[in-house]
Amino acid sequence: MIEKIKEQEKISLLLDPSAEKRDAWNEQVLNHTNLFLNELENVNAYYQNKDQGAGILNYDLSEDPMPLDKVLKGLKSHIEEDGINAASGGHMGYIPGGGLYPSALGDFLAAISNKYAGIFFPAPGAVRLENMLLRWMAKLMGFPANAVGNLTSGGSISNLIAVVTAREAVGVKAKDFDKLVVYLSAQAHHSLQKALRIAGLGEAQLRYISMDSQLKIEVTELEKAIVADQKNGLIPFMINASMGTTNTGTVDPISQMADIAEQHKIWFHVDAAYGGFFKLLPELEEEFEGTEKADSISLDPHKSLFLPFGTGAILIKNKKALYKAHQYTADYLQDLIDVEEEVNSADVSPELTKHFRGLRVWLPLKLFGIKPFRAALREKLLLAQYFHLEIQKIAGFEVGPKPNLSVAIFRFVPENGEANSFNQKLIKAIQDDGRIFLSSTSIDDIFWIRVAVLFFRTHLRELDLLLEIIKKETEAISSVR
Ligand SMILES: *Cc1c(COP(=O)(O)O)cnc(C)c1O
Repeated sequence: MIEKIKEQEKISLLLDPSAEKRDAWNEQVLNHTNLFLNELENVNAYYQNKDQGAGILNYDLSEDPMPLDKVLKGLKSHIEEDGINAASGGHMGYIPGGGLYPSALGDFLAAISNKYAGIFFPAPGAVRLENMLLRWMAKLMGFPANAVGNLTSGGSISNLIAVVTAREAVGVKAKDFDKLVVYLSAQAHHSLQKALRIAGLGEAQLRYISMDSQLKIEVTELEKAIVADQKNGLIPFMINASMGTTNTGTVDPISQMADIAEQHKIWFHVDAAYGGFFKLLPELEEEFEGTEKADSISLDPHKSLFLPFGTGAILIKNKKALYKAHQYTADYLQDLIDVEEEVNSADVSPELTKHFRGLRVWLPLKLFGIKPFRAALREKLLLAQYFHLEIQKIAGFEVGPKPNLSVAIFRFVPENGEANSFNQKLIKAIQDDGRIFLSSTSIDDIFWIRVAVLFFRTHLRELDLLLEIIKKETEAISSVR
């Protein structure tokens, strides 16, 4: 028996490399990442490889190990240099994420100590750290100190937690699910509908409230719809305000919507997944007025706090309903002790064991302080306004509303010929160029090209390059026609 154990131990020890081996690997990985970061300014924001990443399939698992240099080569060719380069300042498509360097170090530290951050008992310090970060976010949004939150994997899970908590708070019975009404605009993020479906509320009615020319919800229409629904025996359940829509960065009239929600006793959710951390800018105070009146707020530090993908947050005032939706206990958890002042993340989220996300949030904020975050957000705001102004100076270009935040939409309107097909060609030409990546959208059947300035490496240089590419490609397309 002992011999057998020792035999296996000899092999299993391979899983715990020596200090020399670790040093060698660390050096290789650091060389790789340093080269990646140092080259960023000169490489594409978008790669369109013929095999679409299929080369990585040659790296399937086997019994035998592969040396790190070979693994890193595969990573570079088939993953890093493929598709959108999400670390490039040229990435202005969709809503760009972040990837601050200290977050990578935070992930490294979290994986090494592997603290169990889901529950207070096994990792009191880790739980306190995450709750401290959430209290900072709550304060930023004007939430009371006893509001409860969770660091989630992203805005979609945050919205899901908000929906199930609202469901428990309202206490609706299954027989009434089809009488529930959710108020939102057509510009609301689809993760809200997805959350409703996952929460079992797919039969709830979605009331799309009309928008003004700025694409903001019209509050008078909202109020009318609620009154009509109540009259018809329906149950107004939730009002969703977007604090920065994904399409155009539009901020709904949060404060007025909050007052309507309060008056009619409807759960008021603010989806701030994109716009949330712009709250750090005092000049936007008026725009964001009313966040303190929300019942729940979804945030995405992996968007406007420049963190790597996989970092969201939810803040909720009604702790009882939040627990009612998520708290569970089991016999094998009997050693756990509760402390009054700290919340277990496992009690307020679908997750039990989870990534210790706190470190990737905390480390950059500690190492940089908050000041440069504020400056970077302000810079992105100004860059979007700059683009919005500059593109109008080029003949034939039309723009959407002045950006509330850092997304601008634009299109070329040719003197003759169809605008939509022209702009489809234009976005394809920009993507084929590859130095800048943009995405498009349709609003009322009009094809728009979007510029989303949110990546921390996006600066004036990238916007000027973009304007230059747009000019050149527009001329090229026009001359062929
Ligand atoms: C991105 C986004 C979401 C979804 O968040 P994920 O982090 O992608 O899950 C929800 N709402 C808005 C407004 C968003 O921009």
